[in-house]
Amino acid sequence: MAGKDYYQILGISRNASEKEIKQAYRRLARKHHPDLNPNDKSAEARFKEINAAYEVLSNPEKRKKYDQFGEQWEYADQFAKSGGQERVRWDFGKGGTTFEYGDLSGFGDIFSSLFGDSGIGSRVGRGPRRGQDIEAHIEVTLEEAYHGSTRLMQLQTEEPCTACGSTGRVGNRVCTICNGAGGKAIPKRLEVKIPAGVRDGSRIRIAGEGGHGLVGGKKGDLYLVVKFLPHKLFERKGDDLYTEVSVPLDTAILGGEVRLPTLNGNISLKIPAETQNSKVFRLAGKGMPQLGNNKYGNMFAKVKVVLPTNLTEEEKKLFERLQSLRPA
Ligand SMILES: [Zn+2]
Repeated sequence: MAGKDYYQILGISRNASEKEIKQAYRRLARKHHPDLNPNDKSAEARFKEINAAYEVLSNPEKRKKYDQFGEQWEYADQFAKSGGQERVRWDFGKGGTTFEYGDLSGFGDIFSSLFGDSGIGSRVGRGPRRGQDIEAHIEVTLEEAYHGSTRLMQLQTEEPCTACGSTGRVGNRVCTICNGAGGKAIPKRLEVKIPAGVRDGSRIRIAGEGGHGLVGGKKGDLYLVVKFLPHKLFERKGDDLYTEVSVPLDTAILGGEVRLPTLNGNISLKIPAETQNSKVFRLAGKGMPQLGNNKYGNMFAKVKVVLPTNLTEEEKKLFERLQSLRPA
């Protein structure tokens, strides 16, 4: 299978027009179609090749990448979004995890014109197709993004149907195992590594856990899109964290130390004498880790002076004395 030349497979030149590609495909697909060559394994293999070649060359964008990168074109664009137009949504799991996967059709039009539209049966004849990439959302706490974590997730993954080789058909009959779908959704426990430093909207790629391929095509990938849960103490902006620090009135006036929570435990923050309300302290390296290196962002702590309540008689007298000392 190595070194396949899609142009050679379709018997066309490298600068063939879209029309020429379509014509060559129709001619060859008709000739090698499994329904017309029952029990001919080589015709079936050839038919798969023709379909694989047509899938790429009939799509201007894929063709361009194929011309540029050869057979490995798909890997050149691993982070491309799923190209499906119609989308199917599933909701399952805790927290409303949503899976979307693109519609698996695409050969429908040309096959209905070749063989007539026969419902589920029109699925037959699609060549090896890589499964769709699936996108799901994963809710992540700031703590998880700080330390990195491993999540055990219950996912719904698509497995190809082995009974029909994911064609949806056995001979001329609809496959009774998958009812012609070519695959089925099965629950799967998956260990997902959340790297330290992920950001809102980061995409975690899990290779081979996407939609099942068709007719021996390999599986698509699963992308988990990170969505942050709000944190009660910290607000994140890039790699920096923003927080408020409560400072008692006497500490703000006379100076001292207060405890400041960080994502890596409490630290002691020095408060200089006569610190004003809303003053912001910058704590270097106390922010979020940066993805892929050992650096950390900063933390910005804004002072919130806490005024005393429920004063004792003595305290009240002291404030009165203070007040009497102030110039009018
Ligand atoms: Zn099946």
